[in-house]
Amino acid sequence: MAIPIEVEPGLCEEVVLGHVLAEERVGRATAWRRESEDLYRLPAGQARDQGFRALALNSFAALDCGGRLHALVAEFEPRFPGVTRAVFQRANRPSQEGAELHVSGAASVVRTEVSVTRMMAGTALDEFVRSEWTHVVDMLDPSFGYVPDDLERAGETPFERRLIRERYRALWTASVTGRLSREGKTPEGAEARRRDEVHRAYAKLAEEARERCFLAMWSGPRPTHVELLALAQGPSAVFERFGAGTAASQGARRMPGDPCPLCRFPAWKWADATAMQAKTREALVKDFPTWQPEDAICDRCDELYRARTGCW
Ligand SMILES: [Zn+2]
Repeated sequence: MAIPIEVEPGLCEEVVLGHVLAEERVGRATAWRRESEDLYRLPAGQARDQGFRALALNSFAALDCGGRLHALVAEFEPRFPGVTRAVFQRANRPSQEGAELHVSGAASVVRTEVSVTRMMAGTALDEFVRSEWTHVVDMLDPSFGYVPDDLERAGETPFERRLIRERYRALWTASVTGRLSREGKTPEGAEARRRDEVHRAYAKLAEEARERCFLAMWSGPRPTHVELLALAQGPSAVFERFGAGTAASQGARRMPGDPCPLCRFPAWKWADATAMQAKTREALVKDFPTWQPEDAICDRCDELYRARTGCW
């Protein structure tokens, strides 16, 4: 049996009215207008209200978006085990848009909040719903191990919690969109947008580590909730997993605050060890015979050795 769809009356009516007005602007009459005029002839009361609700529902089902919702439910049904209903509600702000899974007893409801504009936006509606519902597919998958409370508890301060949630979301959505793109179901420019979100979430990390992290999400296997949470909780986890690369560029990927291998003090600025002049390097390895440029050098130590060897 198909998963039943429920569209909140307010959302349904606004979408239908939006469509009617758009048709009338280009001089086309609609069945809705005729039938609503008939309904207005009825005395105000329950029968008239019910008539309007039924009219809105029927008109909605006949619209492009009504058909799209049914096609989307049919597409996701095999991956929505145990889901008993798909509910669509109006999102009043863009930040409210999204889908959630509500489980209560035997009822498992996928609740999707969507704006009126998006509901009327054709393929953009498909793209939005597919992305949101693929998150729900992960939530339903026991091997993903979703624990929403972890995100409520994460971080020491509200600011930190928000940051962790934003990173978690950026990484998860990169994975979701990457999987959809392999099915040929992503809009143009989606990869660039997801890349940008992941890069912005880790603005303090070296470019290369950020890009590796993005690529692992975009084209790698689906991460688990625990993996996403660990990566979201700190740039150091991302650095540990994606930061190590070729030895030659190691120095460039030192994190601010890591200890300098020479002076051992936390270093907030790192020098470009590969640009060091031969004279300076000779002086340095006299003091630190095992030092290599890939070990990195802090700004202060670099300055000291350049000063000693007259290299400015
Ligand atoms: Zn140093």
